[in-house]
Amino acid sequence: MVKHVYTFGAGEAEGKADMKNLLGGKGANLAEMNLIGVPVPPGFTITTEVCTMYNEQGQQATFDLIKPEVEAAVALVEKLTGTKFGDKENPCLVSVRSGARASMPGMMDTVLNLGMNEDAVEGISKKSGNSRFAWDSYRRFVQMYGDVVMEMKPASKEEIDPFEEIIEQLKEEKGIQLDTQFTTEDLQELVRRFKAAVKKVTGKDFPTDPWEQLWGSVAAVFNSWNNDRAILYRRLEQIPGEWGTAVNVQAMVFGNMGENSGTGVAFTRDAATGEDIFNGEYLINAQGEDVVAGIRTPQEITIEGSKRWAVLQGVSEEDRTSKYPSLEEAMPEMYRQLNETQQKLEDHYSDMQDLEFTIQEGKLWLLQTRNGKRTGAAMVNIAIDMLEEGRIDEKTALNRIDAAKLDELLHPVFDTAAMKTATVLAKGLPASPGAATGQVVFFADEANKYPESVLVRVETSPEDLEGMHIAKGILTARGGMTSHAAVVARGMGKCCVSGAGAVKINYKTRVMTIDGVEFQQGDWISLNGTTGEVYKGKVATMDPEMSGNFAKIMDLAAKYTRMAVRTNADSPADAQVARDFGAQGIGLCRTEHMFFEGERIKAMREMILAKTEVERRKALDKLLPYQREDFEGILEAMAGYGVTIRLLDPPLHEFVPHEEANQKEMADEMGISVEAVKALVEDLHEFNPMLGHRGCRLGNTYPEITEMQARAIIEAAVNLTQKGVDARPEIMVPLIGTVKEFKLQADIINTTAEKVFAEKGARCDYMVGTMIEIPRAAMTADLVAEHAEFFSFGTNDLTQMTFGYSRDDAGKFLPIYIEKGILKNDPFQVLDQEGVGQIVKIGVEKGRSTKPDLKVGICGEHGGEPSSVKFCNSVGMNYVSCSPYRVPIARVAAAQANIG
Ligand code: ADP
Ligand code: MG
Ligand code: MG
Repeated sequence: MVKHVYTFGAGEAEGKADMKNLLGGKGANLAEMNLIGVPVPPGFTITTEVCTMYNEQGQQATFDLIKPEVEAAVALVEKLTGTKFGDKENPCLVSVRSGARASMPGMMDTVLNLGMNEDAVEGISKKSGNSRFAWDSYRRFVQMYGDVVMEMKPASKEEIDPFEEIIEQLKEEKGIQLDTQFTTEDLQELVRRFKAAVKKVTGKDFPTDPWEQLWGSVAAVFNSWNNDRAILYRRLEQIPGEWGTAVNVQAMVFGNMGENSGTGVAFTRDAATGEDIFNGEYLINAQGEDVVAGIRTPQEITIEGSKRWAVLQGVSEEDRTSKYPSLEEAMPEMYRQLNETQQKLEDHYSDMQDLEFTIQEGKLWLLQTRNGKRTGAAMVNIAIDMLEEGRIDEKTALNRIDAAKLDELLHPVFDTAAMKTATVLAKGLPASPGAATGQVVFFADEANKYPESVLVRVETSPEDLEGMHIAKGILTARGGMTSHAAVVARGMGKCCVSGAGAVKINYKTRVMTIDGVEFQQGDWISLNGTTGEVYKGKVATMDPEMSGNFAKIMDLAAKYTRMAVRTNADSPADAQVARDFGAQGIGLCRTEHMFFEGERIKAMREMILAKTEVERRKALDKLLPYQREDFEGILEAMAGYGVTIRLLDPPLHEFVPHEEANQKEMADEMGISVEAVKALVEDLHEFNPMLGHRGCRLGNTYPEITEMQARAIIEAAVNLTQKGVDARPEIMVPLIGTVKEFKLQADIINTTAEKVFAEKGARCDYMVGTMIEIPRAAMTADLVAEHAEFFSFGTNDLTQMTFGYSRDDAGKFLPIYIEKGILKNDPFQVLDQEGVGQIVKIGVEKGRSTKPDLKVGICGEHGGEPSSVKFCNSVGMNYVSCSPYRVPIARVAAAQANIG
């Protein structure tokens, strides 16, 4: 029989850490913590499979099926806690929490204190001897359950939560300011008014039966899997919709039972830098998400952290110790236990943990642990530190790297000199490192108002996710290192400064005031997420310096990879950048870019205008020295490695002007009439240039072009060889569909090479191969490989031709296709393994069937995208090639693919 519910408690558990797919991350780790002797309140997890069943077969069938198991699990929780659901004397209260395979912060709000009703509240009152606490718990429950399960929470942020409205109203009636000033009677009144509001809005009575409450919450968690927030988050993080969420039901523990209780969030290492420093925040006498929500100012857990915080906030040491003491000072024994536990958890998981805890009357409970989200820098530093601490081996360290996240480390940082002269407006917490410059916006849905914006908020919430994604950086006035803004920003690798107390925001007037100076929406500011500084205006940036640990990761990649990583580069400077990042060769050097500068474009246009072969050769002779010089530069920059040079590819119309003014300019320059230029442009016009006269079709109609390019390459290589430089040109014929198209071009290249060798009395090594980018070429690859010495898959064109999408026009429908799930990804970014990938695979296999040692690579945009790189490894490619700044990403992905 399939098991749907897994229990945990009192040091035992039916699940364990490696069951995340079935139990979700939270459920699997709650089970595991029980197994390793960490104190966790008992509970149970309903599996992700049940969520899938719920979505497919509906609520009734699903609940009927799992009911007996849920009832047995509740009975176990009751037994372990000595309580009973809805009991007058000793009621059982639980929390209901969602928990997917991958953490999805804020997907569904947790319901706490479930089981509360008129009887239970009496029981809790008596048991705790604190009726105010009991009624406060009750009213929180009605509010949470009403919002989350009965959908009282308004859809838009503009509308006020009806419960908040009632709270404000009662405060006014009572002439008080704070929630904490409510008396027990006030709280009872709140419960009454809350329930009346529920009845009025939903037409339903607030459920008093704990079982009804429980099933209602379970349904709400399952429904939340498909709410807008969750769907958006999955899209941003590329989490599949089929996974489903688990439901965790767990006995309540109370951090709000008085001054010897509290709740908090902690990291076993610094999530921004990776430093091995235990850190986190807590609140005394608080429950649930109070810490993250930023309602009260959370306090630091360690003395060290607390002191740093006080300096930033301008709080004196005296005020700090009296008003905001660290946990280490306020509850030394609790701190000792917590510190021991965090070490135990990190030792056990061998990874940085992000944990939630609650202290109930001097007893510590853990409510969650997971591998903490971290920045790219922290990811690299933690992986290497843990390797050097002997906690993990090399392969594990390498697999800890999310290759795409390395991108963060390759982006510019503020220029050190510019930073010194910049005006510092305020200082907050360095919540997520990096440099961001942009125009101020105050609302997440306005982040796209400017091409570069900085989102400024008092604090952020899950609704702001999309705007946070769009903004260049995030600045919050409130909230600490574990606030929503900080955690989410670190996950996104987005620069964030949080808790900048000096920033005062008026949402109505859209004005931010710092020390009396006003900033309007649209004003420029800069954020330094590494130091927490906020600067006025734009601050200049510079290229980042690679840390020692980054180099160590690259060394590991080199050690474990099978494929080489090359770069796509058209200039010696780009080649050098890539080489510094560890590129081993050039996979694609486009020659057409070399034709645009200064005198070259003139010669190019003369060539295009030429009516006879003789005229054309004259123009080509002018281009030859430029080309030779370019090739010498690039072959020298990549000395010792192969440089794949693609012959002229684009349609000729790209080299002539299409605007009147420019046509006039060309006419003057070339000493011909504007009409003649216009006629030429007309003549070159094609209905579908991408499928027109381009690629080897140019070389086969004007062989002298190929001849000139081959000569320039070979002459460059011979010159270098004579100088003792190890030049290795690989001449690539583009866009072939038939073997004959290739063969004719190869003959021209080889004949030209022999001529050059004879003239120079010296030789060089070179190869001749082709790009495979037309499906017909892949399908006949066995024939092509009889003549070609290498293949390079041009997956940009191959994707266009396989899907029949034009890259230039796909913008009109691709985004909609992705949103509707017709396509999983943009196939121009992520290689379509199912379709295009199959053609690649056939091409490789057929090619190697005639030439077993055929050298094969990829040179489309896909060569720097991790999942595509892994695919290239699986089909046996020799190398991938990508833009210079993606080389480190591809290197790590290639090594990971090889480790498996
Ligand atoms: P999220 O995934 O958004 O972090 P959680 O399910 O972890 O949501 O719960 C939110 C908050 O409620 C956390 O701070 C957690 O510590 C608290 N909480 C959850 N279950 C319990 C419980 N059984 N007793 C006390 N607090 C709880
Ligand atoms: Mg939550
Ligand atoms: Mg949590």
